[in-house]
Amino acid sequence: MSNFASQETNPWKAQSARFELAAQKLNLDPGLWKILSLPSREITVYVPVAMDNGTIEVFTGYRIQHSVARGPGKGGIRYAPDVSIEEVRALAAWMTWKCAVVDIPFGGAKGGVICNPQQMSQGELERMTRRYTAEIIDFIGPDKDVPAPDMNTNSQTMAWIMDTYSMHMHRTVTAVVTGKPINIGGSRGRVEATGRGVWVVTDEAIKKLGMSRPDTTVIVQGFGNVGSNAAKLMHRAGYKVIGVGEIGGGVINPRGIDIEALLVYHAANKTFDGFPGGDEISTADLLTSNCDVLVPAATENVITSQNAAQIKAKILVEGANGPTTAAADDILAANKVFVIPDILANAGGVTASYFEWVQDRQGYFWKESTVNEELDHIMRSSFENVVKYAELHNVNNRIAAYMLAIDRVAYTLKQRGLYA
Ligand code: NAD
Repeated sequence: MSNFASQETNPWKAQSARFELAAQKLNLDPGLWKILSLPSREITVYVPVAMDNGTIEVFTGYRIQHSVARGPGKGGIRYAPDVSIEEVRALAAWMTWKCAVVDIPFGGAKGGVICNPQQMSQGELERMTRRYTAEIIDFIGPDKDVPAPDMNTNSQTMAWIMDTYSMHMHRTVTAVVTGKPINIGGSRGRVEATGRGVWVVTDEAIKKLGMSRPDTTVIVQGFGNVGSNAAKLMHRAGYKVIGVGEIGGGVINPRGIDIEALLVYHAANKTFDGFPGGDEISTADLLTSNCDVLVPAATENVITSQNAAQIKAKILVEGANGPTTAAADDILAANKVFVIPDILANAGGVTASYFEWVQDRQGYFWKESTVNEELDHIMRSSFENVVKYAELHNVNNRIAAYMLAIDRVAYTLKQRGLYA
Protein backbone atom coordinates (compact mmCIF):
# COMPACT_ATOMS: atom_id res chain seq x y z
CA MET A 1 0.00 0.00 0.00
CA SER A 2 1.41 3.44 -0.85
CA ASN A 3 2.14 5.80 2.01
CA PHE A 4 -0.66 8.07 0.80
CA ALA A 5 -3.20 5.23 0.70
CA SER A 6 -2.19 3.86 4.09
CA GLN A 7 -2.71 7.33 5.63
CA GLU A 8 -6.35 6.78 4.75
CA THR A 9 -6.66 3.50 6.65
CA ASN A 10 -3.96 3.64 9.29
CA PRO A 11 -4.87 6.07 12.10
CA TRP A 12 -1.26 6.28 13.33
CA LYS A 13 -0.14 7.46 9.89
CA ALA A 14 -3.06 9.90 9.81
CA GLN A 15 -2.01 11.29 13.20
CA SER A 16 1.66 11.47 12.19
CA ALA A 17 0.86 13.32 8.94
CA ARG A 18 -0.89 16.12 10.88
CA PHE A 19 1.78 16.13 13.61
CA GLU A 20 4.58 16.51 11.05
CA LEU A 21 2.82 19.37 9.27
CA ALA A 22 2.10 21.24 12.51
CA ALA A 23 5.61 20.61 13.89
CA GLN A 24 7.10 21.97 10.67
CA LYS A 25 4.97 25.13 10.84
CA LEU A 26 6.01 25.57 14.48
CA ASN A 27 9.65 25.10 13.62
CA LEU A 28 9.74 22.58 16.46
CA ASP A 29 13.10 21.74 18.00
CA PRO A 30 14.32 18.48 16.31
CA GLY A 31 14.91 16.72 19.66
CA LEU A 32 11.42 17.52 20.97
CA TRP A 33 10.09 16.49 17.56
CA LYS A 34 11.68 13.05 18.01
CA ILE A 35 10.25 12.67 21.51
CA LEU A 36 6.71 13.66 20.53
CA SER A 37 6.59 11.64 17.34
CA LEU A 38 6.74 8.40 19.36
CA PRO A 39 4.77 7.14 22.36
CA SER A 40 6.63 6.97 25.66
CA ARG A 41 5.40 3.48 26.62
CA GLU A 42 3.48 0.65 24.93
CA ILE A 43 2.19 -2.28 26.92
CA THR A 44 0.83 -5.43 25.26
CA VAL A 45 -0.90 -8.00 27.45
CA TYR A 46 -2.43 -11.38 26.72
CA VAL A 47 -5.53 -11.77 28.82
CA PRO A 48 -6.77 -15.29 29.60
CA VAL A 49 -10.49 -15.51 30.29
CA ALA A 50 -12.66 -18.45 31.38
CA MET A 51 -15.57 -18.41 28.92
CA ASP A 52 -19.12 -19.43 29.83
CA ASN A 53 -18.84 -22.68 27.83
CA GLY A 54 -15.93 -23.90 29.97
CA THR A 55 -13.14 -23.10 27.46
CA ILE A 56 -10.33 -20.60 27.95
CA GLU A 57 -9.88 -17.74 25.49
CA VAL A 58 -6.84 -15.43 25.36
CA PHE A 59 -7.48 -11.82 24.31
CA THR A 60 -4.78 -9.34 23.24
CA GLY A 61 -4.92 -5.99 25.03
CA TYR A 62 -2.94 -2.78 24.87
CA ARG A 63 -2.33 0.29 26.99
CA ILE A 64 -0.24 2.97 25.35
CA GLN A 65 1.00 6.13 27.02
CA HIS A 66 1.97 8.69 24.41
CA SER A 67 3.04 11.46 26.78
CA VAL A 68 2.90 12.06 30.52
CA ALA A 69 4.77 15.37 30.38
CA ARG A 70 1.79 17.57 31.38
CA GLY A 71 0.28 15.13 33.88
CA PRO A 72 -0.96 11.55 34.26
CA GLY A 73 -1.93 9.71 31.08
CA LYS A 74 -5.61 10.06 30.23
CA GLY A 75 -7.62 8.13 27.70
CA GLY A 76 -10.33 5.59 27.09
CA ILE A 77 -10.36 1.83 26.73
CA ARG A 78 -11.97 0.39 23.62
CA TYR A 79 -13.30 -3.15 23.07
CA ALA A 80 -13.68 -4.13 19.39
CA PRO A 81 -12.63 -6.87 16.97
CA ASP A 82 -10.63 -4.42 14.82
CA VAL A 83 -8.59 -2.82 17.63
CA SER A 84 -4.93 -2.67 16.59
CA ILE A 85 -1.75 -1.38 18.20
CA GLU A 86 -1.48 1.34 15.56
CA GLU A 87 -5.02 2.51 16.25
CA VAL A 88 -4.43 2.61 20.02
CA ARG A 89 -1.12 4.44 19.44
CA ALA A 90 -2.89 7.09 17.35
CA LEU A 91 -5.69 7.46 19.88
CA ALA A 92 -3.10 7.87 22.67
CA ALA A 93 -1.35 10.67 20.76
CA TRP A 94 -4.68 12.36 20.03
CA MET A 95 -5.35 12.34 23.78
CA THR A 96 -2.06 14.18 24.39
CA TRP A 97 -3.05 16.87 21.90
CA LYS A 98 -6.66 17.01 23.08
CA CYS A 99 -5.76 17.54 26.76
CA ALA A 100 -3.29 20.24 25.71
CA VAL A 101 -5.82 22.01 23.44
CA VAL A 102 -8.27 22.38 26.33
CA ASP A 103 -5.36 23.01 28.71
CA ILE A 104 -6.10 20.39 31.36
CA PRO A 105 -3.25 18.81 33.35
CA PHE A 106 -3.14 15.39 31.71
CA GLY A 107 -0.99 13.61 29.17
CA GLY A 108 -2.30 11.19 26.56
CA ALA A 109 -2.94 7.45 26.76
CA LYS A 110 -5.34 4.89 25.34
CA GLY A 111 -6.20 1.23 25.79
CA GLY A 112 -7.93 -1.45 23.80
CA VAL A 113 -8.72 -5.14 23.82
CA ILE A 114 -9.27 -7.14 20.63
CA CYS A 115 -12.58 -8.89 21.27
CA ASN A 116 -16.14 -8.97 20.03
CA PRO A 117 -18.14 -7.56 22.95
CA GLN A 118 -21.48 -8.10 21.16
CA GLN A 119 -20.85 -11.83 21.31
CA MET A 120 -19.72 -11.94 24.95
CA SER A 121 -21.85 -12.31 28.07
CA GLN A 122 -21.71 -9.80 30.92
CA GLY A 123 -19.81 -12.40 32.96
CA GLU A 124 -17.20 -12.88 30.24
CA LEU A 125 -16.82 -9.12 29.82
CA GLU A 126 -16.41 -8.66 33.58
CA ARG A 127 -13.76 -11.40 33.84
CA MET A 128 -11.89 -10.03 30.80
CA THR A 129 -12.00 -6.48 32.19
CA ARG A 130 -10.75 -7.53 35.62
CA ARG A 131 -7.89 -9.63 34.25
CA TYR A 132 -6.89 -6.90 31.75
CA THR A 133 -6.84 -4.44 34.68
CA ALA A 134 -4.67 -6.80 36.73
CA GLU A 135 -2.24 -7.15 33.81
CA ILE A 136 -1.73 -3.37 33.44
CA ILE A 137 -2.11 -2.50 37.14
CA ASP A 138 1.47 -1.33 37.68
CA PHE A 139 1.06 1.28 34.96
CA ILE A 140 -2.28 2.88 35.90
CA GLY A 141 -3.35 4.95 38.92
CA PRO A 142 -4.65 8.43 39.78
CA ASP A 143 -1.16 9.94 39.38
CA LYS A 144 0.03 7.65 36.57
CA ASP A 145 -2.62 6.95 33.97
CA VAL A 146 -6.40 7.27 34.31
CA PRO A 147 -8.55 5.21 31.88
CA ALA A 148 -12.12 6.06 30.83
CA PRO A 149 -14.82 4.53 28.60
CA ASP A 150 -14.56 4.49 24.81
CA MET A 151 -16.26 2.41 22.12
CA ASN A 152 -18.09 -0.56 23.66
CA THR A 153 -17.04 0.20 27.22
CA ASN A 154 -19.18 2.11 29.71
CA SER A 155 -19.65 3.09 33.35
CA GLN A 156 -20.04 -0.58 34.35
CA THR A 157 -16.67 -1.40 32.78
CA MET A 158 -15.15 1.49 34.75
CA ALA A 159 -16.75 0.22 37.98
CA TRP A 160 -15.09 -3.20 37.44
CA ILE A 161 -11.71 -1.57 36.78
CA MET A 162 -12.05 0.65 39.85
CA ASP A 163 -12.99 -2.33 42.02
CA THR A 164 -10.16 -4.54 40.72
CA TYR A 165 -7.60 -1.78 41.23
CA SER A 166 -8.98 -1.04 44.70
CA MET A 167 -8.79 -4.74 45.71
CA HIS A 168 -5.09 -4.77 44.76
CA MET A 169 -4.43 -1.51 46.67
CA HIS A 170 -6.48 -2.63 49.72
CA ARG A 171 -8.46 0.61 49.70
CA THR A 172 -11.06 2.27 47.50
CA VAL A 173 -9.35 4.35 44.83
CA THR A 174 -12.11 6.06 42.87
CA ALA A 175 -9.76 8.41 40.93
CA VAL A 176 -8.10 5.53 39.03
CA VAL A 177 -10.75 5.76 36.28
CA THR A 178 -13.32 8.30 35.12
CA GLY A 179 -16.73 7.74 33.58
CA LYS A 180 -17.84 5.77 36.66
CA PRO A 181 -21.42 5.46 37.91
CA ILE A 182 -22.32 8.53 40.02
CA ASN A 183 -22.73 6.65 43.32
CA ILE A 184 -19.12 5.39 43.22
CA GLY A 185 -17.34 8.62 42.39
CA GLY A 186 -18.69 9.48 38.94
CA SER A 187 -19.40 13.07 37.99
CA ARG A 188 -22.77 14.51 37.23
CA GLY A 189 -22.86 15.58 33.59
CA ARG A 190 -20.10 13.18 32.43
CA VAL A 191 -22.36 10.96 30.30
CA GLU A 192 -23.58 13.90 28.22
CA ALA A 193 -20.33 15.85 28.29
CA THR A 194 -18.85 14.91 24.91
CA GLY A 195 -22.15 15.58 23.12
CA ARG A 196 -22.52 18.81 25.07
CA GLY A 197 -19.05 19.92 23.98
CA VAL A 198 -19.95 19.14 20.35
CA TRP A 199 -23.02 21.32 20.69
CA VAL A 200 -21.13 24.18 22.38
CA VAL A 201 -18.44 24.39 19.68
CA THR A 202 -21.09 24.16 16.95
CA ASP A 203 -22.83 27.13 18.57
CA GLU A 204 -19.58 29.10 18.45
CA ALA A 205 -19.04 28.15 14.78
CA ILE A 206 -22.52 29.19 13.61
CA LYS A 207 -22.14 32.48 15.49
CA LYS A 208 -18.85 33.06 13.70
CA LEU A 209 -20.39 32.25 10.31
CA GLY A 210 -23.48 34.41 10.96
CA MET A 211 -25.95 31.50 11.04
CA SER A 212 -28.84 30.94 13.47
CA ARG A 213 -29.89 27.72 15.23
CA PRO A 214 -33.39 27.29 13.71
CA ASP A 215 -32.02 27.78 10.19
CA THR A 216 -29.18 25.32 10.70
CA THR A 217 -29.71 21.74 9.55
CA VAL A 218 -27.67 19.02 11.20
CA ILE A 219 -26.78 15.42 10.33
CA VAL A 220 -25.20 13.16 12.95
CA GLN A 221 -23.44 9.89 12.13
CA GLY A 222 -23.37 7.58 15.20
CA PHE A 223 -26.09 7.26 17.81
CA GLY A 224 -24.01 6.02 20.71
CA ASN A 225 -22.89 8.12 23.64
CA VAL A 226 -21.53 11.02 21.61
CA GLY A 227 -23.94 11.08 18.67
CA SER A 228 -27.17 10.58 20.59
CA ASN A 229 -26.33 13.22 23.20
CA ALA A 230 -25.15 15.71 20.57
CA ALA A 231 -28.34 15.15 18.55
CA LYS A 232 -30.54 15.46 21.66
CA LEU A 233 -28.91 18.64 22.98
CA MET A 234 -28.82 20.30 19.57
CA HIS A 235 -32.46 19.40 18.94
CA ARG A 236 -33.40 20.84 22.35
CA ALA A 237 -31.41 23.99 21.59
CA GLY A 238 -33.46 24.60 18.45
CA TYR A 239 -31.24 23.22 15.68
CA LYS A 240 -33.01 21.30 12.92
CA VAL A 241 -31.56 17.78 13.15
CA ILE A 242 -32.51 16.20 9.82
CA GLY A 243 -30.48 13.00 9.73
CA VAL A 244 -29.10 10.46 12.17
CA GLY A 245 -27.29 7.20 11.40
CA GLU A 246 -25.60 4.24 12.99
CA ILE A 247 -23.74 1.20 11.74
CA GLY A 248 -26.79 -0.48 10.23
CA GLY A 249 -28.20 2.60 8.45
CA GLY A 250 -29.93 5.86 9.22
CA VAL A 251 -33.03 7.97 9.10
CA ILE A 252 -33.52 11.26 7.30
CA ASN A 253 -36.21 13.91 7.22
CA PRO A 254 -35.48 17.32 5.65
CA ARG A 255 -38.28 18.87 7.75
CA GLY A 256 -36.47 17.83 10.94
CA ILE A 257 -36.55 14.73 13.13
CA ASP A 258 -38.17 14.65 16.56
CA ILE A 259 -35.03 13.43 18.33
CA GLU A 260 -36.83 12.85 21.66
CA ALA A 261 -39.22 10.46 19.87
CA LEU A 262 -36.32 8.81 18.03
CA LEU A 263 -34.47 8.24 21.32
CA VAL A 264 -37.52 6.49 22.77
CA TYR A 265 -38.00 4.44 19.58
CA HIS A 266 -34.33 3.46 19.39
CA ALA A 267 -34.18 2.49 23.07
CA ALA A 268 -37.17 0.20 22.60
CA ASN A 269 -36.28 -1.28 19.18
CA LYS A 270 -32.45 -0.98 19.05
CA THR A 271 -32.83 0.15 15.42
CA PHE A 272 -34.16 3.08 13.37
CA ASP A 273 -36.00 0.67 11.06
CA GLY A 274 -39.71 1.43 11.06
CA PHE A 275 -39.37 4.84 12.77
CA PRO A 276 -42.37 6.77 11.45
CA GLY A 277 -40.74 10.24 11.60
CA GLY A 278 -38.37 9.88 8.65
CA ASP A 279 -37.13 7.83 5.70
CA GLU A 280 -34.43 5.18 5.70
CA ILE A 281 -31.02 6.12 4.31
CA SER A 282 -27.71 4.26 4.02
CA THR A 283 -24.79 5.29 6.24
CA ALA A 284 -22.76 6.32 3.17
CA ASP A 285 -25.53 8.49 1.65
CA LEU A 286 -26.19 10.16 4.99
CA LEU A 287 -22.70 11.67 5.07
CA THR A 288 -23.07 13.30 1.67
CA SER A 289 -26.69 14.50 2.09
CA ASN A 290 -27.55 18.21 2.11
CA CYS A 291 -27.03 19.83 5.52
CA ASP A 292 -25.28 22.79 7.15
CA VAL A 293 -23.55 20.89 9.95
CA LEU A 294 -22.22 17.34 9.69
CA VAL A 295 -21.24 15.58 12.92
CA PRO A 296 -19.38 12.31 12.36
CA ALA A 297 -19.65 10.73 15.82
CA ALA A 298 -19.06 7.05 15.12
CA THR A 299 -15.61 5.90 14.12
CA GLU A 300 -12.39 6.62 12.18
CA ASN A 301 -11.79 7.22 8.47
CA VAL A 302 -15.36 7.83 7.32
CA ILE A 303 -14.52 11.02 5.40
CA THR A 304 -11.82 10.11 2.91
CA SER A 305 -10.47 11.16 -0.49
CA GLN A 306 -13.35 9.08 -1.93
CA ASN A 307 -16.26 11.08 -0.49
CA ALA A 308 -14.83 14.40 0.83
CA ALA A 309 -15.67 16.26 -2.38
CA GLN A 310 -19.34 15.23 -2.02
CA ILE A 311 -19.68 16.59 1.52
CA LYS A 312 -22.27 19.42 1.36
CA ALA A 313 -21.97 20.65 4.95
CA LYS A 314 -20.57 24.12 5.65
CA ILE A 315 -19.35 23.01 9.09
CA LEU A 316 -17.82 19.65 10.02
CA VAL A 317 -17.80 18.94 13.74
CA GLU A 318 -15.73 15.85 14.55
CA GLY A 319 -17.46 14.10 17.44
CA ALA A 320 -15.52 10.91 16.72
CA ASN A 321 -11.76 10.55 16.92
CA GLY A 322 -10.08 10.57 13.53
CA PRO A 323 -13.19 10.53 11.29
CA THR A 324 -11.39 12.49 8.53
CA THR A 325 -8.28 11.29 6.72
CA ALA A 326 -5.35 13.61 5.99
CA ALA A 327 -6.09 13.36 2.24
CA ALA A 328 -9.68 14.46 2.86
CA ASP A 329 -8.44 17.51 4.83
CA ASP A 330 -7.08 19.08 1.65
CA ILE A 331 -10.34 18.55 -0.25
CA LEU A 332 -12.42 20.00 2.59
CA ALA A 333 -10.07 22.98 2.84
CA ALA A 334 -10.34 23.61 -0.92
CA ASN A 335 -14.14 23.53 -0.57
CA LYS A 336 -13.97 25.96 2.38
CA VAL A 337 -15.63 23.60 4.86
CA PHE A 338 -15.20 25.00 8.38
CA VAL A 339 -13.73 22.02 10.28
CA ILE A 340 -13.84 21.77 14.06
CA PRO A 341 -11.21 19.07 14.54
CA ASP A 342 -11.68 16.06 16.83
CA ILE A 343 -9.04 17.15 19.34
CA LEU A 344 -11.19 20.21 20.02
CA ALA A 345 -14.73 19.13 19.09
CA ASN A 346 -14.92 16.01 21.27
CA ALA A 347 -12.79 17.31 24.15
CA GLY A 348 -15.88 17.82 26.33
CA GLY A 349 -15.62 14.20 27.48
CA VAL A 350 -12.08 14.40 28.75
CA THR A 351 -12.78 17.81 30.28
CA ALA A 352 -15.64 16.36 32.34
CA SER A 353 -13.36 13.41 33.15
CA TYR A 354 -10.89 15.92 34.53
CA PHE A 355 -13.68 17.35 36.70
CA GLU A 356 -14.51 13.82 37.88
CA TRP A 357 -10.86 13.15 38.82
CA VAL A 358 -10.73 16.47 40.71
CA GLN A 359 -13.97 15.69 42.57
CA ASP A 360 -12.76 12.18 43.49
CA ARG A 361 -9.54 13.56 44.89
CA GLN A 362 -11.36 16.29 46.82
CA GLY A 363 -14.15 14.00 47.97
CA TYR A 364 -16.54 16.85 47.18
CA PHE A 365 -19.04 16.50 44.36
CA TRP A 366 -20.31 19.33 42.20
CA LYS A 367 -23.84 20.15 41.08
CA GLU A 368 -24.60 19.27 37.45
CA SER A 369 -25.02 22.95 36.64
CA THR A 370 -21.49 23.63 37.93
CA VAL A 371 -20.06 20.85 35.72
CA ASN A 372 -21.92 22.18 32.66
CA GLU A 373 -20.93 25.78 33.34
CA GLU A 374 -17.23 24.93 33.74
CA LEU A 375 -17.39 22.71 30.65
CA ASP A 376 -19.04 25.42 28.56
CA HIS A 377 -16.39 27.89 29.61
CA ILE A 378 -13.46 25.60 28.68
CA MET A 379 -14.99 24.56 25.34
CA ARG A 380 -15.84 28.12 24.28
CA SER A 381 -12.47 29.55 25.21
CA SER A 382 -10.63 26.63 23.56
CA PHE A 383 -12.64 27.17 20.36
CA GLU A 384 -11.72 30.84 20.43
CA ASN A 385 -8.02 30.06 21.01
CA VAL A 386 -7.88 27.57 18.12
CA VAL A 387 -9.69 29.85 15.67
CA LYS A 388 -7.50 32.82 16.63
CA TYR A 389 -4.38 30.68 16.25
CA ALA A 390 -5.57 29.56 12.80
CA GLU A 391 -6.10 33.17 11.71
CA LEU A 392 -2.79 34.33 13.16
CA HIS A 393 -0.75 31.58 11.48
CA ASN A 394 -2.87 31.33 8.34
CA VAL A 395 -3.50 27.59 8.75
CA ASN A 396 -6.69 25.54 8.94
CA ASN A 397 -8.35 24.85 12.29
CA ARG A 398 -6.98 21.31 12.54
CA ILE A 399 -3.37 22.31 12.05
CA ALA A 400 -3.93 25.26 14.39
CA ALA A 401 -5.21 22.92 17.11
CA TYR A 402 -2.22 20.61 16.65
CA MET A 403 0.19 23.58 16.69
CA LEU A 404 -1.34 24.98 19.87
CA ALA A 405 -1.20 21.56 21.53
CA ILE A 406 2.31 20.65 20.38
CA ASP A 407 3.57 24.07 21.47
CA ARG A 408 2.12 23.59 24.97
CA VAL A 409 3.52 20.06 25.39
CA ALA A 410 6.91 21.05 23.94
CA TYR A 411 7.10 24.03 26.31
CA THR A 412 6.47 21.74 29.29
CA LEU A 413 9.08 19.25 28.09
CA LYS A 414 11.62 22.06 27.77
CA GLN A 415 10.79 23.36 31.25
CA ARG A 416 11.04 19.93 32.84
CA GLY A 417 14.27 19.04 31.01
CA LEU A 418 15.45 15.54 30.21
CA TYR A 419 15.87 13.06 33.05
CA ALA A 420 19.12 11.24 32.33
P1 NAD B 1 -20.56 4.18 21.14
O1 NAD B 1 -20.03 2.78 21.11
O2 NAD B 1 -21.43 4.62 22.26
O3 NAD B 1 -21.36 4.49 19.77
C1 NAD B 1 -20.82 4.30 18.51
C2 NAD B 1 -21.90 4.59 17.48
O4 NAD B 1 -21.29 4.59 16.18
C3 NAD B 1 -23.01 3.55 17.39
O5 NAD B 1 -24.24 4.21 17.13
C4 NAD B 1 -22.61 2.68 16.18
O6 NAD B 1 -23.72 2.09 15.54
C5 NAD B 1 -22.00 3.73 15.29
N1 NAD B 1 -21.05 3.19 14.33
C6 NAD B 1 -19.96 2.41 14.57
N2 NAD B 1 -19.32 2.13 13.42
C7 NAD B 1 -20.00 2.76 12.44
C8 NAD B 1 -19.84 2.85 11.03
N3 NAD B 1 -18.85 2.24 10.42
N4 NAD B 1 -20.74 3.60 10.34
C9 NAD B 1 -21.75 4.21 10.95
N5 NAD B 1 -21.97 4.17 12.29
C10 NAD B 1 -21.11 3.44 13.00
O7 NAD B 1 -19.26 5.11 21.02
P2 NAD B 1 -19.07 6.60 21.52
O8 NAD B 1 -18.60 6.60 22.92
O9 NAD B 1 -20.27 7.41 21.15
O10 NAD B 1 -17.83 7.04 20.62
C11 NAD B 1 -17.97 7.41 19.26
C12 NAD B 1 -16.70 8.10 18.80
O11 NAD B 1 -16.47 9.24 19.63
C13 NAD B 1 -15.43 7.27 18.88
O12 NAD B 1 -14.58 7.70 17.84
C14 NAD B 1 -14.84 7.68 20.21
O13 NAD B 1 -13.43 7.46 20.27
C15 NAD B 1 -15.17 9.14 20.21
N6 NAD B 1 -15.19 9.79 21.53
C16 NAD B 1 -16.01 9.34 22.52
C17 NAD B 1 -16.03 10.01 23.74
C18 NAD B 1 -16.96 9.60 24.85
O14 NAD B 1 -17.02 10.34 25.85
N7 NAD B 1 -17.73 8.53 24.72
C19 NAD B 1 -15.20 11.11 23.96
C20 NAD B 1 -14.38 11.54 22.91
C21 NAD B 1 -14.39 10.88 21.71
